[in-house]
Parts: sequence; structure tokens; C-alpha cells
Amino acid sequence: MSFAASVITLFPELFPGPLGASVLGRGLGEGLWSLSTTQLRDFAVDRHRSVDDSPSGGGAGMVLKPDILAKAIDATAPQGDPRPRILMSPRGKPLTQARARELALGPGAVIVCGRFEGIDQRVIDRRGLEEISIGDYVLAGGEVAAMVLLETIVRLIPGVLGKAESHADESFENGLLEYPQYTRPQNFEGVDIPAMLTSGDHGKIAKWRHEQSLALTKARRPDLLTTKSS
Ligand code: SAH
Repeated sequence: MSFAASVITLFPELFPGPLGASVLGRGLGEGLWSLSTTQLRDFAVDRHRSVDDSPSGGGAGMVLKPDILAKAIDATAPQGDPRPRILMSPRGKPLTQARARELALGPGAVIVCGRFEGIDQRVIDRRGLEEISIGDYVLAGGEVAAMVLLETIVRLIPGVLGKAESHADESFENGLLEYPQYTRPQNFEGVDIPAMLTSGDHGKIAKWRHEQSLALTKARRPDLLTTKSS
């Protein structure tokens, strides 16, 4: 069974967007993963097809109504659907390569894209939504965040990346940032490829790359060396 993504959104026309390009798009065409969208507004009940209302207690902006969103979630993922239910949210747990790897091994994901000020807390609690953030900044909506999450997951699905684009050595895969990469020409604007890389000594090259990774990680992301959450 391949990875099945379902996205609940007010802007289904944004999908697949970048997820339809290159290797991810090819994987989609080949059925290595699938993508469906649910238009949240289809579940509105009033004349104006409204999906939001003003925040209880006052304040700016609008809040997505829990009853409408719950109906959309239940229609997309009826009881017994084994897929995790995710809400894109700046309050969520930061997305990690490790969580993406776990999700890539599972049956798929049901992803809710927020808009406006946010979402009624009761639907988050009652439908057990796992909140995931893509970083400490605020987007206008969850759609781009859902694409980031899906792009990270889908390229880890076996068969999506060819051997030529393997991810074994990549940043975060071993808790470190990737070593610097080089390719021909041998001399670029007076700078040569480090001699080590053209020495043909694979043991030494692996050691050099590891040292470079470690030095880069120490300099740029010392937090990665002290946490186990890569
Ligand atoms: N008032 C909210 C932000 C709302 S932004 C707050 O302060 O927490 C509107 C929607 O964009 C959110 O519901 C969420 O779905 C999405 N979004 C914004 N920033 C995000 C981020 N960093 N990661 C994931 N989703 C985000």
C-alpha cells in the first residue's frame, strides 16, 4: 500500500503545486504515493458558506469553526482510517527529518491547513490533531507548510528518489550537516577541488567528509550535537 496524503484546505487549487514537479511528480504519476484534497468550504452549512467566525473573548481576526472542520475531517478520514491527523501550526512540534522518516514508513497523513487567526481548540483536541510547525515564523496559511511537510516525507518513500539521488549522506540523516560538495571543472575561478577528493583513497575521503560535517555542524548548528532529535 502506498503513502496516501489527504489535505484539507480552503485552497485545493494550490495542490499538487511543487509536489507535482520532478521526482515527486513522477512518483505521484507512478502511484508510489497519492494525493487528494478536501475543500473545507464544501462542509459549510449557511447561505454564505462561512467556515470561520470571530474569536470568543474578542480580538482581531477570525477562527475556523470546529463543527465545519470536524465534518471535513470525518469525511476525509472516517473512523478506523489509520493515518495520523496533522494540523500545520506555528505552535506545533518543529518538523524534523526523524519525524518525516517515521511518517514515510506509515500509511499516509491527513493534513489540515489552517487560515486566519487559527482553529477552535476543541476540534484539535476532539480529533486528536498532531500539531507540526515548519519553523519559528508565521505564514498566512497552512498550505505551503503542508507542502514542505509532504515534500520532506515523499522524497523518503522508497523508489521516489533514484539511486543517483540517494539521501543516506544528507544533512540531518546522521545528526550532522552535510559536508561541502564539489564537481567539475577541476578549476573554478582559480579555486581547485580539494585534492583529497580526487585522490581516489575512499577511506581518507570518508574521514575528510566526516570531519568537514562535524566542523560545519559545530560552527553553524551546535544545537544538533547536543540533542538527539535530528
Ligand atoms: N494566530 C496563529 C497563526 C495563524 S497563521 C498563531 O499565532 O499561532 C494561519 C495558519 O497558517 C495557521 O493556522 C497554520 O495552519 C499556518 N501556519 C502559519 N505559520 C506556520 C508554521 N510556522 N508552521 C506550520 N503552519 C503554519
